[in-house]
Amino acid sequence: MLPRIDINLAKIAHNAKKLVDMYGSKGIDIMGVTKTICGDPIIAKVLVNSGIPSLTDSKIMNIKKMRHAGIQAQFVLLRTPSLSEIELVVKYADISINTELAVLKELSASAKRHNTLHKIILMIEMGDLREGIMPTDLKRFVHEVLKLEGIKIVGIGANFACFGGVKPNEAKMDYLSSLANEVEKTFSLSLSFVSGGNSANYNWFMNTENISKINNLRLGESIYLGREPLCRMPIPGLFTDAFKFVSEVIESKVKPSVPYGEISQNAFGSLPQFQDRGHMKRAILGVGFQDVLVTGLTPSLDIEILGASSDHTILDTKKIDLKVGDEVTFDLNYGALLSVMTSPYVSKNYINANNQSLWLMASSVSVTRL
Ligand SMILES: *Cc1c(COP(=O)(O)O)cnc(C)c1O
Repeated sequence: MLPRIDINLAKIAHNAKKLVDMYGSKGIDIMGVTKTICGDPIIAKVLVNSGIPSLTDSKIMNIKKMRHAGIQAQFVLLRTPSLSEIELVVKYADISINTELAVLKELSASAKRHNTLHKIILMIEMGDLREGIMPTDLKRFVHEVLKLEGIKIVGIGANFACFGGVKPNEAKMDYLSSLANEVEKTFSLSLSFVSGGNSANYNWFMNTENISKINNLRLGESIYLGREPLCRMPIPGLFTDAFKFVSEVIESKVKPSVPYGEISQNAFGSLPQFQDRGHMKRAILGVGFQDVLVTGLTPSLDIEILGASSDHTILDTKKIDLKVGDEVTFDLNYGALLSVMTSPYVSKNYINANNQSLWLMASSVSVTRL
């Protein structure tokens, strides 16, 4: 079925193992982020089998799905719970990240009702300006949380390079570590998790002499796409093509390069500009923004994406002759991967599902063999 996403499980397993070993060499544990792949249980299983026993997702629905599929892992909710989903969070997540007392009060009440203990990681605002408790409020906040029964602070964390594009550098990591020390001392607590960030922490990790108290990172992009997100550089030794998007040609014709007629807005409300390149070989793919974030696709062939509407993508196929029915393959960036994995229109095709361990033995010889 087309369009489809080819998911190479052996390449994902390879990336996951490499990252576990690399970060583990300095004492940093990994949580595997599953929101990127919409909590796909088959991929989740690969992560667990590759030495990642903690999985984290921003959607409680995805955590529920993985649990129901029988995935054995510690599940962490990666977004502060909304008040309307508290019961599900206590039921399905072992740990959740949090920044609001109103939410923690409800988590506490629900945990008490169910006679259980819900663990929490407090997120600290460190400049990226998405979620987080302001550092100056931290002590007062912890003081209030400690009054609540049924919940237990097991760590603190921070997030970077998601909203504000702020880098997780040495100064930020030292500051987070010092806040962890302060909380531990002031309240006689022991924090199991000092979670320093996400895939964007790669450059800090490679260049730092001292990881300080940081003992955890939450990784999505570097496992799936083999890149660090600050400059989108490939990480040496990792695969950047574990996922491939495949679509089908539904029209192929020579046409002019500039639209003709009276010009108004296009489907998405902009007035597009075109360069006159004379007549060109144009092909249309039967996919559009409903299926994938088209702007995040890079063709494997030497062809160019001219644009897309809801369910058509227009190509300049340059010197290549594409016929109706031909398959056209693309690499994906983070946004494209996220959109494809959540689209009901894209079928999933798992490759190397059965020979992950066989292949891993081969991979110690060369990573370019697949
Ligand atoms: C999405 C997310 C991550 C994972 O980020 P990657 O860049 O994919 O590694 C980690 N932490 C939080 C809080 C997130 O929302």
